[in-house]
Amino acid sequence: MTNIAPHRVVVIGGGYAGLTAAARICENTTDVSLTLIDAKPEFVERIRLHEIAGGSTPRHLPYNDFMATRRGRFVQAKVLRIEPDQRRVLVDPVKDGQDLAENTIPYDTLIYALGSYTDTQSVSGADQHASRLDTTAGSAALGSRLTALAGAGGTVLIAGGGLTAIEAACEFGERLPGLKIILTPGRNFAPGVNPGDLSKAGLDHVIATLRRLDVNIVTGARIAAVHPGHAEMEDGGTVPFDECLWAAGFLVPSLAADAGITVTESGQVITDDTLTSISHPDILAVGDAAHVVAEVAGKCRMSCAVGRPMGELAARTFIARTDGLPANAFEFSYSFRCISLGREDGLIQFVDAADRPVEQVWTGTRGAVWKEYICRRTLAGIGFETELGPPPDTPPKTS
Ligand SMILES: Cc1cc2nc3c(=O)[nH]c(=O)nc-3n(C[C@H](O)[C@H](O)[C@H](O)COP(=O)(O)OP(=O)(O)OC[C@H]3O[C@@H](n4cnc5c(N)ncnc54)[C@H](O)[C@@H]3O)c2cc1C
Repeated sequence: MTNIAPHRVVVIGGGYAGLTAAARICENTTDVSLTLIDAKPEFVERIRLHEIAGGSTPRHLPYNDFMATRRGRFVQAKVLRIEPDQRRVLVDPVKDGQDLAENTIPYDTLIYALGSYTDTQSVSGADQHASRLDTTAGSAALGSRLTALAGAGGTVLIAGGGLTAIEAACEFGERLPGLKIILTPGRNFAPGVNPGDLSKAGLDHVIATLRRLDVNIVTGARIAAVHPGHAEMEDGGTVPFDECLWAAGFLVPSLAADAGITVTESGQVITDDTLTSISHPDILAVGDAAHVVAEVAGKCRMSCAVGRPMGELAARTFIARTDGLPANAFEFSYSFRCISLGREDGLIQFVDAADRPVEQVWTGTRGAVWKEYICRRTLAGIGFETELGPPPDTPPKTS
């Protein structure tokens, strides 16, 4: 009798995309040994980090429990290196007592899902003197500092004009009365200028909300450098602050590039339409760390909105291949973006299939309720138990 060793799948990165892929593979296979590796012990709801900085309590979503109920293994470790020729990853275990032979984990199939982090590299001083919304602990600590500042009438400067910066400004404006908030979106704050741009109707609502919440919007110049206590603007001006939150763009880890996997200039793994690396057929890439071009959607935007469906398809691609079947192409079309504007207001910006904003928007309580519903639906979609309930009213066009 011969024993056939199970196929070893290793998923690196347990964010929206990687954890979805890991869950679906575990749930739909019996002869696979799956290991999820993440540096953190728990899934982080990145899309709620601004809420945590505004005072919300984070939900605990440990990977161990999630994987154990699906017969998968979780290893808490930082991935240091990928060695595609040897088909293994080298890790630095974060947690004591884990049984890792020589800190290497071999794979037959690797799912690369290391996500992204705030870009504090592009502007001098941002890394040293600004906070970011990257981790639960960091966001909670920022929240404590902002609460103290609010009591003392201090100022937070939020660098950026995209969705994260807008969400943070509104969250703080609503929940931290007394805090002075400055938003620096750059030279302009207009439709089509900022990443994740909005229609005129959408931006008008955002600006009206920021004004209602007393957020001071400073345009005309970008931040050239960050110093302790002030930002130096490109036109020579300065903007003083007590706390600076950097929310201006994302970078991706360099591990794929370092390993010789074919990547874009920014380091995203280039995939074919089945999410397979074009240089390494035994590697699938998903989420923010992947460069994926879908037929209708075009180049996919960094977002959990598209990262989760990528995780679903990566699992189907893997299963199809092990069954000797052809894999399907990633099909995705956008329909809306959900932006929280505090707990009481929100914006549903409808977009066309290629993610271009159209004039239709939902705002106010309806927008807030929908945004909250979508956040919960995202968790439920991964497989976490969460109270979902029916959609609040007529659903937005679905993707
Ligand atoms: C405040 C905020 C609000 C947002 N709101 C929205 C929104 O409303 N809608 C939307 O679609 N998107 C939103 N986004 C963007 C969204 O969060 C990201 O696009 C999404 O998280 C990407 O998912 P991912 O699975 O690719 O990676 P991530 O969620 O970034 O997960 C990557 C995982 O990899 C792990 N990892 C990274 N490097 C290593 C390593 N070397 N070793 C081990 N583990 C590692 C990390 O710990 C992490 O768990 C928001 C982002 C922020 C910051």
